[in-house]
Amino acid sequence: MFNVQLMQVMENIIRYLKHSENVLIASHVNPDGDAVGSLIAMGLALNALNIKTTLYNESKIPTVYCFLPSVARIVPTLDNIQNSTFEYDAAIVLDCGDIQRVGKMGSELGKSGSGFQLINIDHHITNTYFGDFHLIDISACATAEIIYRLIKKMGVPITSAIATCIYTGILTDTGSFRFSNTNKAAFEICNEMVALGVDPYNVAKHVYGRYSMGRLKLLNLALDTLEVSYNGKVSMMTITRDMFDETGTQAEDTDGLINYARRIKDVKLAVLIQECWLPDCQLPVSDYHIPVKKQQSEIKKRPGSVAKNRNFHVSLRSDGTIDVASIAANFGGGGHRTAAGFNIESSISDLKYGIFNLAKEIVN
Ligand code: 5GP
Ligand code: MN
Repeated sequence: MFNVQLMQVMENIIRYLKHSENVLIASHVNPDGDAVGSLIAMGLALNALNIKTTLYNESKIPTVYCFLPSVARIVPTLDNIQNSTFEYDAAIVLDCGDIQRVGKMGSELGKSGSGFQLINIDHHITNTYFGDFHLIDISACATAEIIYRLIKKMGVPITSAIATCIYTGILTDTGSFRFSNTNKAAFEICNEMVALGVDPYNVAKHVYGRYSMGRLKLLNLALDTLEVSYNGKVSMMTITRDMFDETGTQAEDTDGLINYARRIKDVKLAVLIQECWLPDCQLPVSDYHIPVKKQQSEIKKRPGSVAKNRNFHVSLRSDGTIDVASIAANFGGGGHRTAAGFNIESSISDLKYGIFNLAKEIVN
């Protein structure tokens, strides 16, 4: 819940934005419903104040979120920033624990003295407090909850388009009101959004009810890889590039898959390892994906391992007894106490061996 200090930050941000003419808004690579919903909601609200906005996300917007109003306004590149003619008064970065989560443009945006204010709005416990303004509320169920409060405070009427974006952000980030971040505000705000015109069935149909056949085939292959540690407390699933190729799927199709591994009785830590992948990728994958960041921890290799390294995203979920945000942070990633992730270069066999070994030390 917002305290006096956060209210003050919010007022300062609003005062600054109201004097801005042109604002860039960005959210994280491989966006989820919160990243897309918050991005559009914030854009529409600033437009209502006659502020020009550019909505930026480096990745392809997942098909399940393409029903959101104004989604076509999101652009994957920013020519002007590369030509050093950065004409924005402010850059708002949403749902990103660190500036690198924005992707390739992250380091440009993070440079100080670029003549614009960097506004960091997030709910991740591992937020690094980058930028000039920090509206970080780790008790918020989603960044969309913070955006809702900001829009209210700005005095902008919540249209049904804005309401649909906020509702989708909260619905998806709380796993349909099932995850531990589900709070009173999640229900109160969603209730209000429905009163303002959101059709919950329509949102659910798009987000959860229109999967491709390939996505279900990928689920089938992934379930086949499900392993549980000897004591039943750690579960692991693996998705390789071959599995994406075989089913004609991509990274967006793995969203929510880890919940199968986390649902198993007695499991305290669930892990999903997925190989980083891009369709028709001409670049080495590491160029496309978020760079693997400096790690404090090392994955223990199998004795005598000579397996070739590839790029992986590792998702971690816990039952609340283990702080996965700090595990992910040790590997250069981040997230929440019960849901976090990181990127790593490894071989699949070393990674599985290393994670099971690490888990043995943590989960008892
Ligand atoms: P997922 O593993 O499903 O991609 O992400 C789980 C949570 O961890 C999300 O809240 C996501 O934003 C966060 N997360 C995932 N990967 C990273 C990462 O590399 N860095 C940071 N800071 N957070 C991450
Ligand atoms: Mn979020």
